[in-house]
Amino acid sequence: MENNVPDLKKITGRPKLRTDFPGMYCPGCHYGIIARLLCEVIEELGIEGKAIGLAGVGCSFGGMPLTIDVDWTSCPHGRAPAMATAIKRIHPDATVFTVQGDGDLGAIGLGCFMNALGRGENLTTVFLNNAVYGTTGGQMAPTTLLGMKTTTTPLGRELKTSGYPLHIPELAATMKGVSYSARCTVHTPANFQKARKALKIAFQKQLNGIGYSLVEFVSACPPGWGLNPLDCLDFISEKMLKEYPLGEFKNVDSLD
Ligand code: SF4
Repeated sequence: MENNVPDLKKITGRPKLRTDFPGMYCPGCHYGIIARLLCEVIEELGIEGKAIGLAGVGCSFGGMPLTIDVDWTSCPHGRAPAMATAIKRIHPDATVFTVQGDGDLGAIGLGCFMNALGRGENLTTVFLNNAVYGTTGGQMAPTTLLGMKTTTTPLGRELKTSGYPLHIPELAATMKGVSYSARCTVHTPANFQKARKALKIAFQKQLNGIGYSLVEFVSACPPGWGLNPLDCLDFISEKMLKEYPLGEFKNVDSLD
């Protein structure tokens, strides 16, 4: 019987890497949960001493470095993959990862990101997709859903003027330099566990030296969406995941 008793401390305890900083996200934002997941996975892989994070511009910019106790640097807008490339080449034994939102990675930084994928850099990216520019007031992002109202599309995103939403993991999966590409959420406990698995695989690809790995997190932005935190969970299930299906899009152990 004793063996069946769950280790409650492990389930509910605070990851060692989670700093005392209380967090700086809006109520209902999923970034704090993703930060916790990053702490847990880095600890589980035993890479605390050699993980280096690069924070893109956006709400994760301040929050992740202040709450996850590994080495960090911040980056010019959209340029995290370029800086990560330099750091990884100087410190090949480090586990180097970028944390970037949909504006940072999908808009201003898309070229920088695609070129890093094309070079097959041995890096990992955590891509945060909440379909708006949260930091600057909820403007339309490349991942905004068609018909979705934002502060710059008050009548809803229109195909004619704004085109289609961008699917980053699917796009990444077409690149030869990519070893792993997946999309997750943390909006339910079951999905949190699946996200843990995906993030672990992504870091493992880098540890095995295989090539670029990427995990997208579809996450909530209550003020940007004009919804309360609970309704955001339904919005993810009913709207976001229809456009952005969960799963792995590429998982290879060699780039040949
Ligand atoms: S604006 Fe959105 S993404 Fe930024 S902290 Fe608030 S909920 Fe999170």
